[in-house]
Amino acid sequence: MSPETREMLRHQDREFEDHRIEKVGAEGTEKSPNGFTLSAGIGCLFVRNEKGLPLPQVGEMVRYYGKGFGFPVRGVAVDDRVYYYESAQEYDTNLQIEREKKKSEDRRKWIEGLPGVRARIAEMHPLFQQRVNAFMDYDDNWGPKFGAYEMMVCEQAEYIAATLETSEEIERVQKLGYNDQRLLLPDMEEGHSGNSASMSFRLAWLFLKHPELVPREHGALCALVGCKEYGCHVHRSKEAQAQA
Ligand SMILES: [Zn+2]
Repeated sequence: MSPETREMLRHQDREFEDHRIEKVGAEGTEKSPNGFTLSAGIGCLFVRNEKGLPLPQVGEMVRYYGKGFGFPVRGVAVDDRVYYYESAQEYDTNLQIEREKKKSEDRRKWIEGLPGVRARIAEMHPLFQQRVNAFMDYDDNWGPKFGAYEMMVCEQAEYIAATLETSEEIERVQKLGYNDQRLLLPDMEEGHSGNSASMSFRLAWLFLKHPELVPREHGALCALVGCKEYGCHVHRSKEAQAQA
């Protein structure tokens, strides 16, 4: 898009908010050395300044392009100083391109790591193998999106079950605070989220109490992305029923 077209689109753009500038900080980053921070209306925003335009002054009005508070700011201008700007359509297109790039990058990485994944699956208890393999067989997209997370949760579940040994002990330990849990499960992964920790405990508990349910339990991220998106057993059997 030519600078003239973009400037024309900007003048036609009705999606903006104007705010009086309360504070300007000349705090460039490595990637954007001329960038600065602006406090105006919607809180503090880092503004790229690749053109090296003069910094805005306190008291001037800044125009933020975008849907408003809570949404990305796709353009910043103070009078005729346009620090950056993308039309709504440009912004959406670029976002889409970025997402597609990320998707194919995730897919490439997953395929590259597949021999390692298969080796890790081979180390698992057959019920966990059955569980993970069913996800992988159901949908090729599952691995790049969710594979690493599910594998981690399953391995942690096996570790918890092997270490705590009974479902009663798992119930007891799950209720303890973080530090007490770590004493009993020293090799537990650091950096669990609430979801991954509770799914690890849940699968460990099932493994000892109702092992036959391990392959049928919801996926490790079902609670966050939904059963259909994850392709868990619950969704797969619903789908099979509908087809029957
Ligand atoms: Zn599910």
